[in-house]
Amino acid sequence: MHAPVFDNAFLRALPGDPEPRNFVRQVEGAAWSAVAPTPVAAPRLLAHSREVAAELGFGEDDLASPAFAAVFGGNALLPGMQPYATNYGGHQFGHWARQLGDGRAISLGEAVLADGRRRELQLKGAGPTPYSRGADGRAVLRSSIREFLCSEAMHHLGIPTTRALSLVGTGEGVLRDVLYDGRPELESGAIVCRVAPSFLRFGHFELPAMRGDAGLLRQLADFCIARDFPSLAGQGEALYADWFAEVCTRTARLVAAWMRVGFVHGVLNTDNMSILGLTIDYGPYGWIEPYDPDWTPNTTDAAGRRYRFGWQPRVAYWNLGQLARALSPLFADPAPLQDGLARFAEAYTDADRDTTARKLGLAECRDDDVARMRELHALLQAHEVDMTRFFRALAEVDADAPSLQPLESAFYDPAKRAAGAAAFADWLSRHAVRLRDDPLPAPARRARMDAANPRYVLRNWLAQEAIDRAHAGDLGGVETLLEVMRRPYEDQPGRAHYAGLRPEWARDKVGCSMLSCSS
Ligand code: AMP
Ligand code: MG
Repeated sequence: MHAPVFDNAFLRALPGDPEPRNFVRQVEGAAWSAVAPTPVAAPRLLAHSREVAAELGFGEDDLASPAFAAVFGGNALLPGMQPYATNYGGHQFGHWARQLGDGRAISLGEAVLADGRRRELQLKGAGPTPYSRGADGRAVLRSSIREFLCSEAMHHLGIPTTRALSLVGTGEGVLRDVLYDGRPELESGAIVCRVAPSFLRFGHFELPAMRGDAGLLRQLADFCIARDFPSLAGQGEALYADWFAEVCTRTARLVAAWMRVGFVHGVLNTDNMSILGLTIDYGPYGWIEPYDPDWTPNTTDAAGRRYRFGWQPRVAYWNLGQLARALSPLFADPAPLQDGLARFAEAYTDADRDTTARKLGLAECRDDDVARMRELHALLQAHEVDMTRFFRALAEVDADAPSLQPLESAFYDPAKRAAGAAAFADWLSRHAVRLRDDPLPAPARRARMDAANPRYVLRNWLAQEAIDRAHAGDLGGVETLLEVMRRPYEDQPGRAHYAGLRPEWARDKVGCSMLSCSS
């Protein structure tokens, strides 16, 4: 079988845990622990991403070979792989949670592509590590399908994300209490191989900082900058300042992209924030259907809804504040950290204005457009309108004869549509006036809107349909969804189902509107 070239720089550059045995513990003064995946009974490749496989040099023969399922199910290693789990902490729901670490993720190594770029391969659900705390290190099929599909969907939407090479069924059961009601059930187990240039999180820097280990903090920062931010030049504090500003900028752009497509991460703890500004750790995420900034799919967060859709920008800012605090030992004076945080606000505002222009089909965003977008959001919320369908259909509205007609199929409730008709008509007529004042010719406007307003997003109930079929042994649903989500901005004939309004059965169903962290 083909094996990429591995160069495990993280292991080489950073201190490892001297304890070779695999038991749960506090790991001080080290960034990683060596730990092998725990073999599974019957690894079977259930799905893969052809783009990620190709990038890593895996051909059809490799994918079909039992050796591939063995490696990506955790039963074998390729030459050059050196499995390890990394050490990080994090603020969970606003509170410092101390050491967390890769409790069920095991990195296999850093593949070096022909052009020199790196791809870390990481198994999620490959068994216990020193960081597993009370849990089993495993993952169930349903959540693995969700992570596999969504990370690929996100990539094709053009949003920075970790990728997924493979989804492997383990042939073993995993005990989970989905509703946290004391009635656990045995579910099918699976392992996703995630792929990213780096899986470093804010929490990797927070843990040594909170422990007062400035030496390890500096080593991690220096390593991360050198490996993952090669475009940054400079030295000393100025370099750290540029790096932090870059992290702030990327995080702002990432969250603005989520807001553009209606993605709700669901658990924006600092341990789930990538230092590269990637979407990472797909758990109880969801997609906005009826527009609602207060919505969260995460039932674990139902009380405070800290991670609701509309709060994601401010939560990201709060998380960057925690990162700034962690990095402060690297700075004699905190001003550069304040400047970095200010960069977040600027970059977010810029990205959000860009989103407004693109979603509305305008060459540029003026202040009155920001206000009109805000009014539109209020209307969408008040009248239960599907965000994705509405914006996609907005391109159909004729600037010379604006009407609600092309938008009607975005409404969930005919009574709410009727109640909002006058307000929408008023909004549309003002929108039409603005369009007539905009220089874009109609075809260019259409293309601009279609490239910002996806036709297809990974609606929770679509993922759930694929999961239900997979549980019945049919992976066709996963295959088809992956295919549909490869071209989210293109209209795909015969695939109206995948662009449909949330069906009534999905309104309050577990796995659709309600997801827990039990995965
Ligand atoms: P999450 O909420 O998924 O971001 O996970 C938070 C922490 O819990 C991380 O340190 C995970 O590695 C750990 N964790 C989550 N699920 C498991 C599991 N099944 N086994 C071991 N550790 C887990
Ligand atoms: Mg996590």
